[in-house]
Amino acid sequence: MLSNSLRALILPYLCIEILLSVLATSTLAQSQHFSMEDYYRIEKIDVHAHIYSDTLDFVSLAKRDRFRFVNMAVWSDPSPQENLEKHRTVFLQFNADRDRTAPVVAFPLENWDQPDWSQQTIHYLDNSFKQGAVGVKVWKNIGMEFRDKDGKLIMIDDPKFDLVFAFMKAQHKVLLGHLGEPKNCWLPINEMTTTNDRSYFQENPKYHMALHPEMPSYEQQIAARDRMLVKNPDLVFVACHLASLEWNVDEIASFLDRFPKAMVEVAARTGQLQFQSHRDRQRVVNFMVRHQDRILYGTDTGVDRNSNSVRFYQQTHDKWLRDWKYFNTDQILSVPELDYAIQGLALPKEVVEKIYRINAMKTFPGSWGQ
Ligand SMILES: [Zn+2]
Repeated sequence: MLSNSLRALILPYLCIEILLSVLATSTLAQSQHFSMEDYYRIEKIDVHAHIYSDTLDFVSLAKRDRFRFVNMAVWSDPSPQENLEKHRTVFLQFNADRDRTAPVVAFPLENWDQPDWSQQTIHYLDNSFKQGAVGVKVWKNIGMEFRDKDGKLIMIDDPKFDLVFAFMKAQHKVLLGHLGEPKNCWLPINEMTTTNDRSYFQENPKYHMALHPEMPSYEQQIAARDRMLVKNPDLVFVACHLASLEWNVDEIASFLDRFPKAMVEVAARTGQLQFQSHRDRQRVVNFMVRHQDRILYGTDTGVDRNSNSVRFYQQTHDKWLRDWKYFNTDQILSVPELDYAIQGLALPKEVVEKIYRINAMKTFPGSWGQ
């Protein structure tokens, strides 16, 4: 037992020692994680954007958030003219500031039934690559909508794509695929896990596969994509929207293990990660940490020539901040995708730097003035 007088003598030193160790721990904690203030300091890349505008307003505004973009044209409009318009603006943005956007193009499907479709497409892509395109986006209309002259639905593993993908590989270009849909798409509205899926499929019944049992199943969509990847093992593939395996991080992990050249990006599916981390936060943290070299940050944000850049910037800015809070802090936050609050993942700094920038730089070498 210490005498009272001895205790009085050493107590101040003990207190200082405890205080110092508390300070050291909190400094350590701070240095392992980015803060909300760091958001404005750290250079970031959003690999899933659709900036189809003649003005540079959106990108100029985004500069203050320190964001660069992969800017994708998608062949998704029924009008070929509209699709070409998207390409025009994607290159307009690129040529105005090559440091901010990396252009990605999409190929036309209109001439599919012509015997030389592959050659026409290669010629088209060759031109686009000469203009600076770094990749090619394929969309869910392949597998869910587009049919040949005999009415056969075209899947992504169709042999007609083989020559085109081989050409892309030879040119060191990236294939970006939004193939299939979230698993929710095959469920009734009231069984879907996120509010954004509920509202999207309510508004777009033609893509709500629960209403179209004659169409390929979820598993068939995933299997066609996987067969295409087996045929093209050396093609760099960015699997958009968490590879349409958003409902289970273990499924995403097994996809990444099976296809070593594939990356996944989180655009429009952070709600699905949050749905899972709300139930088991450590499981999602482990997934992100284990696969930190294979995950890219993206949002699916965009503007077209009719939209108001300032309003879209504000909405996107709010989304970027919410995501930053989720990935970097352990704070409780509300997100529009879920009806309940969730806790942030507090990922380590080095993981966040990879997901938000370094992996994108490696996937799209030569982009953003590298
Ligand atoms: Zn998109």
